[in-house]
Amino acid sequence: RAKNEGRNRACIYDNAMDADLSKRKLLEGDLREAIKHGQLRLLYQPIVDKSGDVMLGVEALCRWTHPTRGEISPAEFIPLAENSGLIVELGAWVLRKAMLDGLAWPSLTVAVNVSPLQFRRADFADLVERTLAETGFDPARLELEITESVLIGNFDTAETSMLRLKALGVRLALDDFGTGYSSLLYLRRFPFDKLKIDRSFVLSIEKAADAAAIVHAVVSLGRGLGMKVTAEGVETADQHLFLRAAGVHSMQGYRFGRAMAPDKIAARLEAPEAFKVSGDQPTSLAG
Ligand code: C2E
Ligand code: MG
Ligand code: MG
Ligand code: MG
Repeated sequence: RAKNEGRNRACIYDNAMDADLSKRKLLEGDLREAIKHGQLRLLYQPIVDKSGDVMLGVEALCRWTHPTRGEISPAEFIPLAENSGLIVELGAWVLRKAMLDGLAWPSLTVAVNVSPLQFRRADFADLVERTLAETGFDPARLELEITESVLIGNFDTAETSMLRLKALGVRLALDDFGTGYSSLLYLRRFPFDKLKIDRSFVLSIEKAADAAAIVHAVVSLGRGLGMKVTAEGVETADQHLFLRAAGVHSMQGYRFGRAMAPDKIAARLEAPEAFKVSGDQPTSLAG
């Protein structure tokens, strides 16, 4: 009897796995269609100077509205695209679209996320070079965001690729800093121009002394190594003041604006005074 139960359980488990797999396969097919029919969109989140009032750049963030499931987070569909190989096509589209949109904002840096699989392809730097040439986008205004997982077990090819990108005049940012291995070796060896402090540290600044200490340490580390430091996920006036006092160069977060359609970015550039935050009062912390 016990044996039978065991077999039944195994059977249910298998069915659940099958269901999960076929759900994923379905979604993957939908993503393929969405890419083919141009149903993905790119939104742009402002990156501002430490006052919060001057937009320095934007980060391109991909959006997918599924015909029946509604909005699907990139945290879900980017890994799906990576596992199915669709990331190659998706990533090429994002790069091109961001550059084309960015042509309209000559004063801004345009940051584009590059997934590990995309970055690891031997022809990635060629793709960037070709897309820059085809769009006429200024390489100095392009910033590629990669995460540490790109570097793991892959030092030599990552370095070659990064040096080629640097030679094109493109800037490189280390995204989500503090969440991976955060080896200091990476910072010495690889030519990053910028560190982006992960949102999880910013979130705890007011509540946890350790998060605040980490933010201070990352800022001085970045500065000491000649890199710019950006804080992600800034939501409150208190976080803003803390980070400004800590010496970050730039900030990004809901306090300064969510990801928005390209025409909204243009509107902000035209009427910057309408988006000032520096007059807002903090609730407690004074820088
Ligand atoms: P990321 O590159 O670290 O992007 C920042 C994420 O934090 C975005 O989420 C953004 O909307 C969110 N965020 C910004 N400010 C705040 C804030 O103040 N509070 C909160 N709660 N969240 C904030 P999103 O757009 O959902 O993207 C999630 C991740 O998906 C990105 O993290 C990036 O890793 C990936 N991703 C998005 N678009 C692309 C893309 O075009 N290509 C690739 N390869 N990855 C992408
Ligand atoms: Mg990013
Ligand atoms: Mg990030
Ligand atoms: Mg992140």
